[in-house]
Amino acid sequence: VEYTTDVVVIGGGGAGLAAAVSAHENGAKVILAEKMPRLGGNTILAGSAFNAVDPGRQEKQGIEDSLDLHFTQTYEGGDKVGNTELIRTFVEGAYPAIEWLEGLGLEFADEVFTVAGGLWPRGHKTIKPLGTGYISTYEHYINEHQDDMKILLDTEIIDLIVKDDRVVGVKGKGLNGEVIINANNGVIIATGGFAANPELRDRYNENWPTLTSYKSTNHPGATGDGLVMAEAVGANFVGLEHMQLLPLGDPVTGSLSGNVNKGVTSSIFVNKDGNRFVDEGARRDVMTRALMEQEDASMWIILDSKSYPTGDTLNNFGETIDELIDQGRAFKGDTLEELAEKIGVDADNLTKALEEFNKAVETGEPDAFGRTLVDKTIDTAPFYAGPRVPTVHHTMGGIEINTSAQVLDVNGKVIPGLYAAGEVTGGIHGSNRLGGNALAEIAVFGRIAGASAAGKK
Ligand code: ADP
Repeated sequence: VEYTTDVVVIGGGGAGLAAAVSAHENGAKVILAEKMPRLGGNTILAGSAFNAVDPGRQEKQGIEDSLDLHFTQTYEGGDKVGNTELIRTFVEGAYPAIEWLEGLGLEFADEVFTVAGGLWPRGHKTIKPLGTGYISTYEHYINEHQDDMKILLDTEIIDLIVKDDRVVGVKGKGLNGEVIINANNGVIIATGGFAANPELRDRYNENWPTLTSYKSTNHPGATGDGLVMAEAVGANFVGLEHMQLLPLGDPVTGSLSGNVNKGVTSSIFVNKDGNRFVDEGARRDVMTRALMEQEDASMWIILDSKSYPTGDTLNNFGETIDELIDQGRAFKGDTLEELAEKIGVDADNLTKALEEFNKAVETGEPDAFGRTLVDKTIDTAPFYAGPRVPTVHHTMGGIEINTSAQVLDVNGKVIPGLYAAGEVTGGIHGSNRLGGNALAEIAVFGRIAGASAAGKK
């Protein structure tokens, strides 16, 4: 089959869907191709924190914040290897993107929180679980504009079509054979990262010992296809060696689901001896490296009934604590001793770990690990524990873009007709991405890419 439209979007995760909606809002007809049988990519699996400086919500909670602080934490938290112009565009666009999403019908909770490795309470949560709210909001918009917008599922794009040095379409395969989509205005690559592609991970990995033995939080479509397509037309890549692991993987699957942690402030991590080993409010790479040093690279997240007042209280992934206990993925003790026995850690160590943490909360002094992100003491039975291991989560590097989401070639020149947004791009998160910056970044740059492509910028 052959189609012709204004803007073609490759990939139906958060970045691609934001780009599609934005391109249409800017007057373009759009076709989005998604290789999997469903939309959502990794976005739909995300723990649903969207970082944005938000004076309204943050002031009510007594939280001080600023665009400069979000900028500095993003830049320094990525070891100053990110592109400062892209980061500036990102932090400035984050709250407007929330308002844009609200305008499209997405509901956010009234309170912000600190997600693991987020370093600051500016994470917005949607009312709907995980990333489902984002995807259904965009899908709803597309369904309402079917005359101008089309989604092709099960359609894997393989090549970009180039004519007179301009990208003018894409070629791939659908369930019924070859698919060609011509683009009057431009093509947006939004194919996500490559954390589910062990071969690419090993090829580019420089910063971690070896990743072969680790699982991933990613959906199986995160294989880096966009890099291959972009490379074939001369695109430049930045920071492919920077990969993010989380200390929060399910021991069996590597996925984030089943995680009892509800935010940085409410829990501690202990190793198999029942001892703490890291500041649980630290950067993601710092926490993961510390976990790799522990016996079996395995830990327990410990929290109390303040996080789960009832058995049907949900975690961040839409699972109840009782359900996790029934599945053997979380453990409960009416006393700390009982919990320690169930998870096989030394009860005295566990008790001491919590006592010292609680003392730091009460005195307001950083604890022995330097932790400052705290809220309430953890002291109210029943107590809960969930096991976690390192898991490959995000690829920070990718296609180089400018602040208009135009793709740059190896000489720093714009490749006409080609745009990219989301995890397939590099340069924003540097060597380590702040938790909560991905959902925000894909919305900000997806939106920009759609507008740029529609305007043929
Ligand atoms: P982002 O957060 O950047 O939006 P996601 O992982 O959420 O990234 O989404 C990327 C989407 O792109 C996934 O749904 C994935 O299946 C899709 N995708 C990846 N490669 C291709 C391809 N070659 N053709 C079409 N879709 C693709």
